[in-house]
Amino acid sequence: MDEAASREDNVFMSEPLMSRSSFGDRVRPNLLLSKRDFVKLCGMGICLLSVGDLLGFPKTSHAQAAQKGLIKTKLSPCFTSLDGGEIQCELCPHRCRVAKGRRGLCRVRENRDGKYYSLVYGNPCAVHLDPIEKKPLFHVLPSTTSFSLATMGCNFQCKFCQNWEISQASPEDVYSYDAPPEVMVKKAKEVGARSVAYTYVEPTIFYEYMLDISHLAKKEGLLNVVHSNGFINPEPLKNLCKVLDAANIDLKGFTEDYYREMCGGGLHPVLETLKTLKKEKVHLEITTLVIPTKNDDLSVLKEMCLWIKRELGADTPIHFSRFYPLYKLRSLPPTPVSTLDRARETALSVGLEYVYIGNVPGHAAENTFCPKCKKRIIQRTGFMVGEVDVKDGKCRYCGKPIPGIWT
Ligand code: SF4
Repeated sequence: MDEAASREDNVFMSEPLMSRSSFGDRVRPNLLLSKRDFVKLCGMGICLLSVGDLLGFPKTSHAQAAQKGLIKTKLSPCFTSLDGGEIQCELCPHRCRVAKGRRGLCRVRENRDGKYYSLVYGNPCAVHLDPIEKKPLFHVLPSTTSFSLATMGCNFQCKFCQNWEISQASPEDVYSYDAPPEVMVKKAKEVGARSVAYTYVEPTIFYEYMLDISHLAKKEGLLNVVHSNGFINPEPLKNLCKVLDAANIDLKGFTEDYYREMCGGGLHPVLETLKTLKKEKVHLEITTLVIPTKNDDLSVLKEMCLWIKRELGADTPIHFSRFYPLYKLRSLPPTPVSTLDRARETALSVGLEYVYIGNVPGHAAENTFCPKCKKRIIQRTGFMVGEVDVKDGKCRYCGKPIPGIWT
């Protein structure tokens, strides 16, 4: 068996709802059970392996260790005080204005007496040891594992969200753990991860927690990587870039209408985030989930690819990912593979050099090909990695530099 697959199988149970190969960065929803089922399963010593095991709780105490409701809060540095005790959150472009006693749109930030608090600091509800390929990051330490975490909440409401059980939840709805940054970094080292990934929901909403873990992780020689919707304000982003090594940003579509109607967000701030990450020299990859009839217009995808080439460079890896019916879009069919093939051909035709197809295990476009000599230089099937012919950051056959983090 491939090393990546066996690593994951050793640590976790198999996914209860989806096959591992069918979806990208999907969280296993084992903290979404009823309290009764949760306790029952813990008592049986099964099921709740991932979070509890990774954080070092004995199986019999999982139920006691996980808590529903608010565990800890932390004062946020990212808000402006307004008249009458109202505040304005400065973390993301929604810039929520929040009255005393109320919460922002992401549900995990609350105005308490004119001060704004994170309600999820140190309280992850999902912690997994994933192959880095699952983020997906194909140009970062191939076949290593990433200590991946999320709290509940999100600043988008995507109709196709694959982690909606936690992204659209409030802290009171989901079981979480009391796990301060130092615990997370210690555990990441213990389980042999090479990176910490902030993922599954939009990490901006647990910004303070992400930042504190990142600083500690950096000191311990771990990489910091995010999978993000890119909907963050420039100032907190630049601050994060100081400790961020790599990012996969969802470019969910290429029109403002699509972002507004399908995600409850906006395109322009995401494009600004992409440009900032490039400027700050954070390794960047892009993911576009291609959804039938929603964002599969080839002329729009071509416009998007031309923008990427012009603003970010032809060597920016892009992943066209297959949609499966989920959440509020269950009536749509899965994306035909031929649609993804056409999207890839379009991207290659405008000059993008690393164009992948995701969520189609076994597709040839999971591999990395050298844009110069055209030889396959990284072999992949799903999240499993085979031959890697990148040496010292260059194609082993022709010497072309390949963008990414390789050592
Ligand atoms: S991070 Fe949350 S509270 Fe702050 S602006 Fe964004 S959605 Fe609103």
